[in-house]
Parts: sequence; structure tokens; C-alpha cells
Amino acid sequence: MKLKQSPFLHTVSVDEEYVALYNSLNLEVAFLKRSFIEQHQQGQMFISSDTVSEHILEQLKKLGLLIDEQADGYELYREYLKALNEPAINILYLLLSDACNIRCRYCYFLAPMPCGYRSSLMKKETMISALNLFVRCVKKSVAKGHLEQHIVIYGGEPTLNKEVFLETLRYIDVLKEKELLPKTVSVTVNTNGILLDEEILTQCKTTGAVVAISIDGPKEVHDQMRVYSSGKGTFDEVIHSYRLAQQSGVKTGVCVTIDGHNLFRMKETVRWLADELDAKGMGFNILIENTTGQHDHYAEIVAQELIESFRVARAMGVYEDRMMRRVKNFLNKEPVFSDCGGCGLQMVVSPDGKIGVCQAFCGEKEFFVTEPFEMFEPESHPFWKRWRRRSPLTNETCKNCIALGNCGGGCPYNAYRVKGSIDALDERFCAHAKATTNFLICDLWEKQKEKQITSK
Ligand code: SF4
Ligand code: SF4
Repeated sequence: MKLKQSPFLHTVSVDEEYVALYNSLNLEVAFLKRSFIEQHQQGQMFISSDTVSEHILEQLKKLGLLIDEQADGYELYREYLKALNEPAINILYLLLSDACNIRCRYCYFLAPMPCGYRSSLMKKETMISALNLFVRCVKKSVAKGHLEQHIVIYGGEPTLNKEVFLETLRYIDVLKEKELLPKTVSVTVNTNGILLDEEILTQCKTTGAVVAISIDGPKEVHDQMRVYSSGKGTFDEVIHSYRLAQQSGVKTGVCVTIDGHNLFRMKETVRWLADELDAKGMGFNILIENTTGQHDHYAEIVAQELIESFRVARAMGVYEDRMMRRVKNFLNKEPVFSDCGGCGLQMVVSPDGKIGVCQAFCGEKEFFVTEPFEMFEPESHPFWKRWRRRSPLTNETCKNCIALGNCGGGCPYNAYRVKGSIDALDERFCAHAKATTNFLICDLWEKQKEKQITSK
């Protein structure tokens, strides 16, 4: 038997004796003795020498790691590409306010606001129109097979617009009650936490909203970056609100933004959040480029620290969202071709009623349109179509990358900030995606070895 290697095949050394063969497109992996490969590989070809090696090659073919000599190996790739022709909106970002009551030093949202930008609060009518448009979009996206829907209440700081905030959650409840939105739609409130009160939390609980509060670590860490305009740290007020949210029975999460203040303290941060705040879920945010002084090797350090923090979180039974997304794709063999909802899956509504692709562009209003909500169809608008095509699958540089099917391409906004185009690579994310893919393959091997030892 003679087979050739898939164009998506990568070889990873997992220990002295074994290597992993990994298909970066379908995420299949097989572990083989190095000696087997040396014996049976000739350049791109694998040739069997007896019935045992023939059986092994057949298994590798079933996994898509090896292919017939005549095949080009791009059949699946072309299938996946087709999906990128169709935007399908299943995420809504409602920016209830583009103002904020604090001044985090690394803020990517306020920093690029043009000089003289007038922030505003979303009106109730705008919120209702936005949700009604989302209802129409969801109907279409469900028909295309997208079964999860998410609403993110966002800002600036959304609780600055308290009345409309409460109305929004109540209106979501009505839409669910009338079965215009699926009961399973997730609602997340992203907040700095400071203005949370009993009324807000009670409504969040009724709606089943998750309140995600930004906490960067213990006081001496958090207060370096998350400050009022006076420079005073916000830690005490934030922790007070976090505890209030926990006591009220609302589902809570913690968002941690990684910058110089906690870059080398991420493992400690995971332990602290779990032990001191009893946090069960958290998500690390990789910093979007801005003007604050960042570490020269930020991308590489974050990549390693995320892996180390994941080990700590896993051992403590804590869910860390950023790594878990990669882990789930890898283990379920479900390739992901955009990590950002902005890539044709989301709609952002700004406080002044403009409809856009990505919340980070709210200040500049790039990739935003001014259209009547009643008529608008984001799925057929050129902005959404263009963003949907923005994927590692459509980027020549990514074709040979080990992280191709497990990466999602990072943040197009960050690519735009650094390189001037959303289609460019988000290189700081690449470091994380590649290191994580290598880690997942080696980790799987370690787990398999453990299993073999315990079953002996
Ligand atoms: S482009 Fe970046 S900031 Fe915008 S939605 Fe995507 S991941 Fe978020
Ligand atoms: S890690 Fe970077 S180069 Fe690799 S697939 Fe992702 S975006 Fe492309």
C-alpha cells in the first residue's frame, strides 16, 4: 500500500520514542513510534512493508492523515470555504452606553474615540428596534443550522443607562415568553461592576443573565490599571459589587485583562479568584494594541502563561474560557474558522442607533451603517459578507499553519490597529494559537500514557 500525506499533516515530537501525526484541518491525531515513520516514510509518501504496517496506514487514511496518491486532499477545505459565503447573525451586542464611569489605562474602547466624540445613552426605542431586528436575524440563522444565540449587554459601561438596562432584560423576557427568541438564548452583562445594585441584580437573576465583572487580580494588581479618572483604584467598590452579585444568586463570571500588571501573575490570579472570590468561571482577555507601555515579548509570554494558568484552573476545577474554547474544539474535533463573532456572526448596535460589525469600531464608526432597523438585513450587507470571509481558511499564510483549524484567526480589529487591515494576521494571537495547539497534542499524549499505565 502506498499513500501520501495530507497537505494538512503536521508532525509533532511528543517524547523521545513517539511522534504525533496531526491534521490541522479536521483535528485528527495519531501517535506513532518514530521508528515506524522512519521505516515507512519516503518523502511525502508512506509505503507499507507487511500486513501490520498496511493496517496502520489504512487507519491513518481513515483519520485523513494520509490520502490516496491521486487525491489533492482539499475536498474538506473547499466544503468549509463555502460556509464562509454566508453571514448568519446569532450574536447581538447592545451598547447601552458608550460612556464609562472609570478610566482603565488599557481601555481599547475609549482610547480610539475621536477628539470631541460625544458619548450617549441608548434610548428605549432603539433598544426595542435592535432586539426586534435580532429576532428576525435569529430566525434566519436557525434555519441555516446555527443553534446557539447570545445577547451581550455592553458599553462603555451599560449600567450607566440603568432604566434602559432594566427595560432591555424585561423585553428579552417578553420575547422569550412569546417564543420569538429561543428560551436558550444566553444573556451576558459585561460590566466594571461598580454601579450594580439590588434592582439590577434581581432583574439579571430573573432573566438568567450572567454578570461578567472585570477584576484583574488582587487589589495591588487590579488598582494599577482599573482606576477612576482621579487615578484612584476601583478594587474595593468592584469587590463589594461582586460579592453582592454572588449573594443575590446571580450567575457571575470574571473577566481578566492581561497586561504588564498581571502578565507574570496569571497562575496566582487563577488561584486567588478561585480561593478568595469562589469564582467558578473566568476568562482571560488578550490585550488589544493600544498606547500603554506593553511588554516587548507580550505575545509569547501570554501564550505560555495561558497554558500554565489553564493547568492550574483544570486542577482546581475552574473554567477558563479562552483556553477551554480551544480545548473543546480540539477534543470534539470541531474545527473553528473564526474566533470572533464579528466575522459575520454578530451585529452591534451603538447607543445612537447605528448598526455595526464590531464594538471596538464604535468610536470611529468604521464598519457601521445608518439604516432603518425595520428594513435592514445584515446578512446581505457587504460589511458582514467581507468579515465573514475573514478567516485563516482564506489567508494563504495560514494554510500551512499547525493551528489552522483550532485558531479562528484572532481579533480582526487588532490586526487593523497594528497592520491597517482586518484581513492581516493578528500576530499576538497567532503565538497563543500555535503554542496551544502544540500543548493540546502533547497533553493528549500524556493523558493517553497515564491511561495505559493505570489500565496495566
Ligand atoms: S474584531 Fe476583535 S474586538 Fe471586534 S468583535 Fe472581533 S474579537 Fe472583538
Ligand atoms: S495561528 Fe496565525 S498563522 Fe496560524 S492559522 Fe491562526 S491566524 Fe493563521
